[in-house]
Amino acid sequence: AIRPIERGSVHRICSGQVVLNLGSAVKELLENSLDAGATSIEIKLKDHGAELIEVSDNGGGVEEENFEGLTLKHHTSKIQDFSDLIHVETFGFRGEALSSLCALSDVTIFTCHKSAKVGTRLVFDHNGKITQKTPLPRQQGTTVSIQQLFYTLPVRHKEFQRNIKKEYAKMVQLLQAYCIVSKGVRINCTNQVGQGKKTCVISTSGSPSLKENIGAVFGQKQLQSLIPFVQLPPSEAVCEEYGLNPANMPQNLYR
Ligand code: ADP
Ligand code: MG
Repeated sequence: AIRPIERGSVHRICSGQVVLNLGSAVKELLENSLDAGATSIEIKLKDHGAELIEVSDNGGGVEEENFEGLTLKHHTSKIQDFSDLIHVETFGFRGEALSSLCALSDVTIFTCHKSAKVGTRLVFDHNGKITQKTPLPRQQGTTVSIQQLFYTLPVRHKEFQRNIKKEYAKMVQLLQAYCIVSKGVRINCTNQVGQGKKTCVISTSGSPSLKENIGAVFGQKQLQSLIPFVQLPPSEAVCEEYGLNPANMPQNLYR
């Protein structure tokens, strides 16, 4: 017999298609912080992210009236209908990340909106429903904590833990890319294994220059091997060959 799958099960199964691995979990949280206008983002990992992924930012924070919608499927502050897609300037717009993360792990969000007097710590269940709500002092911004990613999907969880070093290496590569392109945003990531010392994974200084970000990620030495991109107009011979008029060549076509 062909029958519909129970709703909660559908959500749990499909959430594993939104958040595929450690990298996409970190990416979603990082993008949310960037979308919230953060200039400083702190990523804390425990056991390479298998135990905990925590992303804190100094962005706009979440207003109390939006607490319920935060983690509901296809709930977003970024678009309302299809036509809004043309104007999207944020990384996210599907409203799927937080709801999926709730289905896949234990999620806590600690936020303080710029208009709020005090922060709020929210604990969510796997359906994205708030189960605890506690007022707590916090500076403006948001902290999202993901504990035990994938533990609601036993097979995926086992694979995830078995491959954690590989997952971690891929995630760091992705993080490097965001660190480089995020001009004016300080990003800092640490990892702590067991009760050991925290080690720095990556750290940028919030510089407005791409070049300085590259230096922070790959080291000053690597920076010296970069060659500046220079645009030169085509020579007369080339213009002639292609029938181009040198007088109305577009300037600075490439960046
Ligand atoms: P999307 O980013 O596609 O809108 P998400 O599930 O990632 O969907 O997030 C849902 C909503 O929660 C966002 O639209 C945003 O309004 C809010 N949000 C998520 N993370 C943050 C954050 N770090 N700071 C402020 N608001 C956030
Ligand atoms: Mg998002």
